[in-house]
Amino acid sequence: MRARIILMSIAVALLLQAIAIFAQDPPLDGRDGRQLLLENFRPQTTLQVQPTVLHGAKFPAIDVHSHFRIRLKHSPEQLDEFVKVMDRQRIAVCVSLDGQLGENIDEHAKYLLTKYPSRFAMFANLDWQGTGKAGEPATWDCNRPDFPRRMAISLKDAKERGCLGLKIFKGFGLEYKNTDGSLLKIDDQRFDPIWQACAELKFPVLIHVADPLAFFQPIDEKNERWEELHRRPEWSFYGPQFPKHEELLAAFHRVVERHPKTIFFGAHMDGQAENLPAIAAVLERYPNLNVELASRIAELGRQPHSARKFLIKYQDRVLLGTDGPWPEERLKLYWRFLETEDEYFPYSEKEFPPQGFWQIYGMHLPDEVLRKIYFENALRILPGLREKYEQAARTMK
Ligand SMILES: [Zn+2]
Repeated sequence: MRARIILMSIAVALLLQAIAIFAQDPPLDGRDGRQLLLENFRPQTTLQVQPTVLHGAKFPAIDVHSHFRIRLKHSPEQLDEFVKVMDRQRIAVCVSLDGQLGENIDEHAKYLLTKYPSRFAMFANLDWQGTGKAGEPATWDCNRPDFPRRMAISLKDAKERGCLGLKIFKGFGLEYKNTDGSLLKIDDQRFDPIWQACAELKFPVLIHVADPLAFFQPIDEKNERWEELHRRPEWSFYGPQFPKHEELLAAFHRVVERHPKTIFFGAHMDGQAENLPAIAAVLERYPNLNVELASRIAELGRQPHSARKFLIKYQDRVLLGTDGPWPEERLKLYWRFLETEDEYFPYSEKEFPPQGFWQIYGMHLPDEVLRKIYFENALRILPGLREKYEQAARTMK
């Protein structure tokens, strides 16, 4: 009996020692012959290339893709701070895509426009859920037969409350469901009256379809955004429960085709910044389609020759969007990307590249192209911006 207790205590002691040794294992930092964890990788470039110093956008800009309700949560202090950033970076007007509907629009307008009437504009959003319960799609408003008609009325009201267009979030196609639990289809003809109403109201529709292609691929050693998906597995849309990337885009483009009088923005470079020939093909085919740059300079800047040709060829169809408000350092990278010839620079202020493990190259676009991307295209497609823009830009010359 005593021998067994001694043996047991020796075993326990050995086990504790083993745990202690394991716990003291040095980090996988690649030093002294150790392996290196991808998340510990911090390579510093040895290239001797000079960064260009810019003082804001070359021409007072309009950012057509920003989120002032989602990101600033209606904090007045943060708004004041960000307007100072806009002044320094020469962003004349930001379009907040978070207007929502009804009285929520008034609340958002009060937040943005009371102090800064010329610096902000708003897009409305549909309310798919209404008073329905989160996990019960059958109770959602979008599954009631009069949903499109009522939304059309709400959008008319949104226009009267000051909105200039409609923003659709990526949940349409990837999250919102039919009564039977299947995902709503982007080209479901039920929703045609909504797109129709947008044409009548002259309400452009900015729609976020799909997500980066890597998010639709397995999270494995071949995935070029493995590090990001490993950190945020909920961003993955890989698997039989999700439509394929190309199916989502094809459905969206069928809507664009069926509604030639409705103006669409394919947000985030039409959801396919990895495939510029495919964007070119749909821009050629659908004159009512435009694209914007938000959160895609990482993607464009790693294919600098193709991207420059693309931006010059489709200079009338591309608008500035940033997905901000962002830290000032991030915004500076948009100007650096569009305006300079700089080589191999980070696309984000974060220490570890958050959208793929690479760096980018500047486009060095001619002034007439910059002018279109920065503000002329926005003023043509969203004429409601002109008065605000002219007022705000006057102080920035
Ligand atoms: Zn966005």
